[in-house]
Amino acid sequence: MSQPVIHLQQTTRHYQMGATTVYALRQLDLTIQEGEFIVLLGPSGSGKTTTLNLIGGLDQPSSGQILFRGTNIAAYSPSQLTLYRRQQIGFIFQFFNLVPTLTAAENIEFALKLDKQNKRNAPAKALELLKLVGLDQRATHFPAELSGGEQQRVAIARALANQPALLLCDEPTGNLDIETGQQVLQTLRDFNQKQRTTVILVTHNTAIAPMADRIIRLRDGQIDHIETNPNPSAVADLAW
Ligand code: ADP
Ligand code: MG
Repeated sequence: MSQPVIHLQQTTRHYQMGATTVYALRQLDLTIQEGEFIVLLGPSGSGKTTTLNLIGGLDQPSSGQILFRGTNIAAYSPSQLTLYRRQQIGFIFQFFNLVPTLTAAENIEFALKLDKQNKRNAPAKALELLKLVGLDQRATHFPAELSGGEQQRVAIARALANQPALLLCDEPTGNLDIETGQQVLQTLRDFNQKQRTTVILVTHNTAIAPMADRIIRLRDGQIDHIETNPNPSAVADLAW
């Protein structure tokens, strides 16, 4: 039996804009199991990034609970949240967010050095991670010397550096052409299957959805529809 890794209970996030209240999420109930590959779909403004940021401890709900393996992270202090993000979460963003003045290997070493255990032998570990994403030949390249797809694979290696429980990806292929986008999705799926890392991938691109174990559609800050996919498509078979 799989275990829930994340459980959102009546999670609401709203913003006060003068006299009006803007609801980004309304009483969301959602359970994600360990090892799932989730695609979170929805039009712009539907609450996808808000959901991801709450799960990743970058933001706190206005009300409701967010259980990570049974512990309510909505009650965490800022320093507890920092530790949670560092130990449990890998983030991947649309615009890679690599440090431009560090090489591919150094970008990953930087993440490794945030963790006491991984601090030792960080350069060797960074090379191993680059090998996993097929970029060990690019270790000494700076981000500007890498293609978009290569930069995103470095960002994936960095996100995986400290063996996170959750890999949270916000439009990770949004800035890539089809071929490199597919390479990035394949890399994510491989990690999900080999290491059982739970992946939550946010996109507005419905063509990506068939690769997921479950597809969650948001609309106006609420769940519109959840679809379980008994036979996820291979990345190569996605109809872009
Ligand atoms: P998505 O990622 O699906 O495009 P978001 O989660 O970013 O949507 O936003 C959901 C809603 O919350 C939108 O209507 C957005 O304008 C609103 N929102 C998000 N962040 C803020 C903020 N910091 N202040 C006010 N409103 C916000
Ligand atoms: Mg968004």
